[in-house]
Amino acid sequence: MTQIRLTNTRTRRKEEFVPIDPANVRLYLCGPTVYDRAHLGNARPVLVFDLLVRLLRHEYGDRAVTYVRNFTDVDDKINAEAQRRRAAGSDLSLEALIAERTEETIGWYHADMDALGAARPDHEPRATAYVGQMIAMTADLIAKGHAYEAEGHVLFDVRSFADYGTLSGRSVDDMIAGARVEVAPFKRDPMDFVLWKPSSDDLPGWDSPWGRGRPGWHIECSAMSAALLGPHFDIHGGGIDLQFPHHENEIAQSCCTHPGAGFANVWLHNEMLQVEGKKMSKSLGNFFTVRDLLDRGVPGEVIRFVMLSTHYRKPMDWTEAKAQEAERHIEEWFFALVKAGYSRRMIDVLKNGGVWKPLDAVVNALANDLNAAEAMAALHKFPTSDSAVQMAPFAASLELMGFVSDWDEIGSIARLGVGSVGDHPARERVAAVLFARDEAKRVKDFATADRIRKALVDAGIEIRDTPGAPSSFTIPGDFDESILDGLAS
Ligand code: AMP
Ligand code: ZN
Repeated sequence: MTQIRLTNTRTRRKEEFVPIDPANVRLYLCGPTVYDRAHLGNARPVLVFDLLVRLLRHEYGDRAVTYVRNFTDVDDKINAEAQRRRAAGSDLSLEALIAERTEETIGWYHADMDALGAARPDHEPRATAYVGQMIAMTADLIAKGHAYEAEGHVLFDVRSFADYGTLSGRSVDDMIAGARVEVAPFKRDPMDFVLWKPSSDDLPGWDSPWGRGRPGWHIECSAMSAALLGPHFDIHGGGIDLQFPHHENEIAQSCCTHPGAGFANVWLHNEMLQVEGKKMSKSLGNFFTVRDLLDRGVPGEVIRFVMLSTHYRKPMDWTEAKAQEAERHIEEWFFALVKAGYSRRMIDVLKNGGVWKPLDAVVNALANDLNAAEAMAALHKFPTSDSAVQMAPFAASLELMGFVSDWDEIGSIARLGVGSVGDHPARERVAAVLFARDEAKRVKDFATADRIRKALVDAGIEIRDTPGAPSSFTIPGDFDESILDGLAS
């Protein structure tokens, strides 16, 4: 068994990971607020956690990991969108419009994250399904003297929790000095935060001991993690922007509700994603969603490759140049697998044959605080071969890192690289034909391979073969596309 080490934001040290219960390793990741498409930055924590979960399953067993990622479906931005739709003439109720918006956003989120090869968590709780638990937790915090009611709001009293600020390493007084806090006359301390707030008639609300209202954002994650993972679990994560105040507040709520339980042992935070060296923002015109990239034809595997190339604790920069380089590497990797005859059936044979084991160098790099870049460097160095058995550690490593979701699809990714020169309208058809020639060569059907090559060359196409990589080609301007008919099915 490989010892996993993770950097714990709480202790600011890289620590040996010791699960509370190795038969049930439990993780919670703060999920998206479902009011719109996920932007590229939102994919970073998802991919980091996906890699971590894959590694944990590899070490502790497929069934020994419970991964929870929530959907925040109580939010002012969701309400605003529903109100906008109503103002635009919809005759649905506000509740129905909110449900419509969150349903469609969750559908998009699933499709986009699936395309990046991120496995679905074991539980994806929606905040609206746990309001009862949030009310109970809030009432309990009042009873224990950690929260108070004021003008229909319930606020957490930060001065009642001595450890408030330990995750971010700041005292309450430093926070007040440095933060833009919402000053409200009914707060005892400017840092006190909302557990419950009143809802006006045109907003969604639930009945509570403090009147009709809705929960604050922070209490959602405390209630859902406790309900699904218990008051003490292994790893809690999110982007570093959530460290304060969201995670600080979650700790205060959960530790005061369950004194002595411990809440999360390890806090794992990813740094932020930027685009071409700048913060991603709509005003700079460099804001884009995962779907924008997928629609432009950037494969999910390529997005994943770029994301994992930078260590999760470092700020990362998305650039076109990186995406192009990633595409080249992915094509080479998949091409090597196609050449070695990989398909879903082949994987079953290899797994049954007992040769399915990822490279030690890959597992060790991932176990060292998820050093995916080092793992990928080990894959680049792997001597490729046409033997499926010899390629098994390479293929198993790609699977472990989540690069392959469908083994029967690897051919279409490998084929992307075929003919990356120029953008002639016949480009894709020529690429498919050339790929068929590569396939024919692989199965030693040289007569077919030669026939295809001769036909293409006679039609003026210039073919460049590079060992170990897909062929590339250039199509002449006067190319007669009918030559392709019947060359490859
Ligand atoms: P949100 O829907 O804004 O609450 O964000 C969902 C997740 O995405 C949280 O874990 C955030 O920390 C994370 N996140 C948001 N923006 C970025 C970014 N630019 N880079 C990396 N992670 C981000
Ligand atoms: Zn959260």
